[in-house]
Amino acid sequence: MKNRNEPLLIFERSRAGRRATRMPPADVPVRPVEELLPADSLAVEPPPLPELAEPDVVRHFTNLSTQNMAVDTHFYPLGSCTMKYNPKRNERMAALPGLADLHPYQPEDSLQGLLHLLYELQQMLAEISGLPGVTLQPAAGAHGELTALMIAAAHFRRLGQQRTQVLTPDTSHGTNPASARMAGFQTVTLQSTPEGYVDLDDLNAKLSDQVAVLMVTNPNTLGLFDQQIREVSERVHAHGGLIYLDGANMNAILGVARPGDFGADMMHFNPHKTFSSPHGGGGPGAGPVCVSQALEAYLPNPLVGRFDSKYCLLEDRPHSIGRVRSFFGNVGVLIRAYCYLRTHGPEGLRRVSENAVLNANYLLSLVKHFLVVPHGDRCLHEFVASAAEVKKSRKIRAMDLAKRLLDYGFHAPTVYFPLTVPEAIMIEPTETESKETLDAFAETLFRILEEPWDRLQEAPLTTPISRPDEVQAARKPKLRWNSA
Ligand SMILES: *Cc1c(COP(=O)(O)O)cnc(C)c1O
Repeated sequence: MKNRNEPLLIFERSRAGRRATRMPPADVPVRPVEELLPADSLAVEPPPLPELAEPDVVRHFTNLSTQNMAVDTHFYPLGSCTMKYNPKRNERMAALPGLADLHPYQPEDSLQGLLHLLYELQQMLAEISGLPGVTLQPAAGAHGELTALMIAAAHFRRLGQQRTQVLTPDTSHGTNPASARMAGFQTVTLQSTPEGYVDLDDLNAKLSDQVAVLMVTNPNTLGLFDQQIREVSERVHAHGGLIYLDGANMNAILGVARPGDFGADMMHFNPHKTFSSPHGGGGPGAGPVCVSQALEAYLPNPLVGRFDSKYCLLEDRPHSIGRVRSFFGNVGVLIRAYCYLRTHGPEGLRRVSENAVLNANYLLSLVKHFLVVPHGDRCLHEFVASAAEVKKSRKIRAMDLAKRLLDYGFHAPTVYFPLTVPEAIMIEPTETESKETLDAFAETLFRILEEPWDRLQEAPLTTPISRPDEVQAARKPKLRWNSA
């Protein structure tokens, strides 16, 4: 890790007059710039760019590239986010010139390979979800939620029903109520049982002919599968409403359970979580949406179709909600997902989930010796520990543990989510980690709990920035260097 006192910005390393290279004077006639450009287009002075020698530039950017944690350098037990290893073969496939160099305005005839791939991806997602209609367009999970809720709105408009409400459980991801509001619905919060299951009494009290959609995450954010899901769907369907499944946790049930079979009418996938394409750092994700046959007509335009062994874009679909994203969506991510699915095949995908669940339960069995894990007998792909007791006895908070883990080379788990568990620490190891990594993580967490309180307050001690003001950092990030 970098010395904290070293300048972080390339501007701070600048020294007037330094250069990477000095070219010899031109030996051909050169016209002065004043002759080439109108006077009002010329700057008064050159822009204040940093002036450095080449090795300083190279070292600066090479060192910067090592400042952050990444799944290629560190273990990332980030609950709810499924940060698994990204196989490099997927990167190579997505970079093949035949795919990477395509132009989206090329005629369909010259895009047959890509369309074939996207068509098969639609089919595979339909098979995994148990829902036949698929759009690959949405740019992320949250965008998939919005797309699905727009589909629901179009469906009820066509039926002539004015349904205004979307039910979201109190454990739901923040994007669920946000997407519902963006799609023009009111959100109504549904209480959960202590296990994070849908509270059936509260559901009964809130169900009415005003409810358009219930959004559920199953397995839920406590890493538990809600066995009542079929009953929940039946009740919602009996009132004419739809079930939306937030598919962020699909890594736990691939090839084991299909949302379409347990009552979902719509769902999204997060290929950057479940299907190993990279995420984080603001890079593109994707949020394919699968829907039941009854809702297929509303899917965004275009879909990828096939006629007489030729692939084409289907645009003539009068009930479609229209486009939600330019061209075919974030194709690079979709190619990586396709490659991942083909690599594993149906049996392999099931093993992915089985191993994800095995790893999470193994880690749970270690962690529960020193941290309370409410509802922690068994879990699926993740579990939620709580620092509430160590906070009471020793004033150690979930945040302190998360920050100190960074010093030991572990990315912090998700903390303070779900909101229903005090001092929540949400741990999801994924299937790509070895037993040794899981052992080392648990042992480190245990050792940190034995450390002096004041050291934990100062952690992390080895990162370039220690404890930013989290609220300020999110609300007023400083994204630009000012010379003044
Ligand atoms: C990650 C996540 C989302 C949002 O997905 P993005 O791809 O980040 O937009 C929604 N719900 C849950 C439960 C998630 O974990």
